Amino acid sequence: MPELPEVEAALEFLRTRARGRAIARVRLLHPALQRRLSPAQLQALAGARIARVERRGKHQLLHLDDGRVLHAHFRMNGDWALTETNAPLPRFARAAIDLDDDTSLIFVDSRALGTIDLHPAGVALDLGLGPDAADPEWTAAQLADELARRRGPVKPALLDQRLVAGLGNIYAAESLWRARISPFAPSNALSRERVQSLREAIDAVLRRATGSRYTDDDTVTLDVYDREGLPCRRCRTPIERAVQAGRSTYFCPTCQPREIAAKHGTAKKTAKKTAKKTATAKKTAKKGAKKTAKTIAKKPAKRAARSRRA
Ligand SMILES: [Zn+2]
Repeated sequence: MPELPEVEAALEFLRTRARGRAIARVRLLHPALQRRLSPAQLQALAGARIARVERRGKHQLLHLDDGRVLHAHFRMNGDWALTETNAPLPRFARAAIDLDDDTSLIFVDSRALGTIDLHPAGVALDLGLGPDAADPEWTAAQLADELARRRGPVKPALLDQRLVAGLGNIYAAESLWRARISPFAPSNALSRERVQSLREAIDAVLRRATGSRYTDDDTVTLDVYDREGLPCRRCRTPIERAVQAGRSTYFCPTCQPREIAAKHGTAKKTAKKTAKKTATAKKTAKKGAKKTAKTIAKKPAKRAARSRRA
């Protein structure tokens, strides 16, 4: 599924191939898209110029010079291709934006779940998105505040575009692996330190992937996603797959242990228990998860801070 890096690559394609060009005609080639735009809306696109293109999360906005916005979303699959306007259409062509230089931008989408919409000029677009995952101003503290409000496991939370925009199933799994956090860890049980690691992991994972065209060819080496049964790149434990909120999730049971998640959840009870857990965590630390011990040891202080606020 195209996530932030792939959509960013699509935007780069639009910037170089389509920005500044006028639209000659838009052809919708699939019934699902034909239902989204009326013939009158389609006709009224002729002559409009693509002034700039913008990515918001996984959404693509083509801002026209008259203020209207053509809004594309690949959903599960999709990409742009550029052809000569009279050339045969590629397989799975769902829409064609014919430009004034006799080239056409083709919306290619094998699953036909992608969308194209047109927004009128002067409308403030609210796409219901949280901060962009690639925004350097999106802080670990913001992420921690959002996660603290949620009881469910962290992986589905990361897929919620209201929490952070741009992550999908692949890069959420990769980020959690990198930060050594179980996808099953309750969101509100993660310490600030662990959320800090997660924020850094998201950044590293997206940086590494940005510039690639697709996640499913081998331009990007994935560490955990779709590697069930293959050895973890850190500790050689076979990667496991589980279904979580209807999606496949991949994790290393050693680097991302569920027990740690559970301990985080109950670490709030008594100081005595916390001490015991710290000891357990130190054992884990020997395996390389140094941050875990530090994190659990600091829990009581965090709790005190929380109750002062409450
Ligand atoms: Zn591992």
